[in-house]
Amino acid sequence: MRVVFLGAPGVGKGTQADRIAVQYQVAKISTGDLLREAVRNQTTLGLEAKSYMDQGKLVPDAVVIGLVREKLAAPSCANGFVLDGFPRTVPQAEELGMVLLSKGVALDRVLNFQVSREDIVRRLSGRRSCPKCQATFHVDFAKPKVDGICDRCEEPLVQRSDDRRDAIEMRLKVYDEQTAPLVRYYEERRLLSTVDASGAVDVVFQHLSKELAPHRVT
Ligand code: AMP
Repeated sequence: MRVVFLGAPGVGKGTQADRIAVQYQVAKISTGDLLREAVRNQTTLGLEAKSYMDQGKLVPDAVVIGLVREKLAAPSCANGFVLDGFPRTVPQAEELGMVLLSKGVALDRVLNFQVSREDIVRRLSGRRSCPKCQATFHVDFAKPKVDGICDRCEEPLVQRSDDRRDAIEMRLKVYDEQTAPLVRYYEERRLLSTVDASGAVDVVFQHLSKELAPHRVT
């Protein structure tokens, strides 16, 4: 199964990608996670990416394409993958198409997650994450057992620097300008399915599983 999860920031792609990766035994490739890891490890790439990410802007195509290319070549992708947060621009989509073509494979489906703008802002601004295990919580919808503390490792939770109001606005603007054109791009290639991602995590997971069932390999 080779799928792309498309949608604005905060629509829940990452949460669903984690679950789908387990259910279908495929690799989850999240460029956001890979970039945050590079920032934490203070690699050259991470240092370059950080200022773009903090402002809510996109990291240059060449940087993310390099990361994804490397991941797609790994044995963990042999059974397929779910791409979360990549591609985010038309050049990235074109590059992905070429990489897959060179491997003699193709995307099965692109799932376009839809949630209202109001809900997106509410989801992102209330999101908190654990700096140690990266688990995410929400101040209203997925509260930790103890306020402000990670359930798993008891670390104080933090707000991602790009989940602050001004960065959220920039991320949504960037989505509209640079990522939304991918809806048309994949529609034209007859790969796009729309998923109502406004409900609870379990409900959205059921919608997704239905969409993906025909692409199950095992
Ligand atoms: P995410 O966790 O997917 O919301 O990504 C967090 C940030 O990482 C984004 O706001 C961008 O700065 C950067 N990023 C993640 N994926 C990409 C991508 N495919 N292209 C460019 N920048 C990206």
